[in-house]
Amino acid sequence: MHKSSIEDLHDIKDKKVLIRVDFNVPIQDGIITDDSRIKAALPTLNYILERGGTCIVATHLGRPKGQVIDELRLNLIAKHLKSLIHYPMLKLNDCVGDSVQDQIQNRTDIKVFLLENLRFYNEETQNDTKFAKQLASLADIFVQDAFGVVHRAHASTEGVSQFLPSFSGLLVNKELNYLQGALSDPKRPFIAIVGGAKVSTKLGVLKHLLDKVDELIIGGAMAFTFLKALGFNVGKSLCEDDKCDIALELIEKANQLNKHIILPKDVVVSDDFKGNGTIEIVSVDAIPAEMMGLDIGPVSLAEIKQSLEKAQTVIWNGPLGVFEVDAFSNGTCEVARALADSAAISIVGGGDSVAAVNKTGVSDKMDHISTGGGACLEFLEGKTLPGIACLKERV
Ligand code: AMP
Repeated sequence: MHKSSIEDLHDIKDKKVLIRVDFNVPIQDGIITDDSRIKAALPTLNYILERGGTCIVATHLGRPKGQVIDELRLNLIAKHLKSLIHYPMLKLNDCVGDSVQDQIQNRTDIKVFLLENLRFYNEETQNDTKFAKQLASLADIFVQDAFGVVHRAHASTEGVSQFLPSFSGLLVNKELNYLQGALSDPKRPFIAIVGGAKVSTKLGVLKHLLDKVDELIIGGAMAFTFLKALGFNVGKSLCEDDKCDIALELIEKANQLNKHIILPKDVVVSDDFKGNGTIEIVSVDAIPAEMMGLDIGPVSLAEIKQSLEKAQTVIWNGPLGVFEVDAFSNGTCEVARALADSAAISIVGGGDSVAAVNKTGVSDKMDHISTGGGACLEFLEGKTLPGIACLKERV
């Protein structure tokens, strides 16, 4: 994919730029609990502002499903954005319509307009052409910087590109540079660590990555489907019996390709996943029938750490155990620390692995933490992302 970026634009002065950002931030009791998505969009906004352009910022928040819901208005986000941007800003009470048009045309003193929640209109998620045209009519240029939603073909992520010259923003560029760089021309050894609950949701990722990596480390509950497929008794561990065949196919494919799949050698088992029961460390060939595996054990951890020492590129998606419960978080947290300390280019994607890295306090030691859970997963599956595919080809 060689798409045009705002950096290819030479004349932004006096242009109105519609920027799709992902400000779908967590809000609790009227407080934004994590503003990293807002901060991640600032380089693009400042890039445009410093060159004399006007930003028309568009985002969704939550799932209002086509209704105007007062709690999902963007007032709080507007207040926060205002504190981070050093240019005159105005939040509008709608995202399309005459009043929005008029204010954007006439308020020449304003440099940043924040449109109201796009998903107050069903037309947004329906990728309605008329709605996309209305959004596009507000601006001269479209910039895609909402990596979190580029896997969706919505009016503001894909539809608008039919009506405006469309470019990627700096955040999208950063995401693509790391993710594409790793998949197309990685420094080797290239290792992927894939964990999480289910093989079924990560099957596409496992298949696609197996072709690219030198070593695939599998952890989390999905490891038990692989272990069962290999004939181990996994007790009460979360396991998808109907995916054992596919797990075996992947193991065989890895053998054919001379790739190394690393599965846990030992696990932390318990009879209570909340951490209140008996907890033991056992070898994977001795999982008691009444227990479930909830984390990787020390032998597995040592093997992963050894791999990470020689790695040059690492992509990590999905926790290696039930990291939300302290008793079962050691494997995930230790891998996060080892990855943070390793010399490898470290790329972390997927909501739960990002949460695990944050919990461990090593997020600033990672080279790249993806802002898009679903989008990152679809990218790693090798799928086309509509919000990227629609951008102008670089000439
Ligand atoms: P995913 O969304 O597929 O990445 O899965 C993340 C979830 O997998 C987290 O909530 C973890 O608690 C859960 N998980 C990881 N390892 C295990 C395990 N061994 N047993 C049950 N759940 C697990």
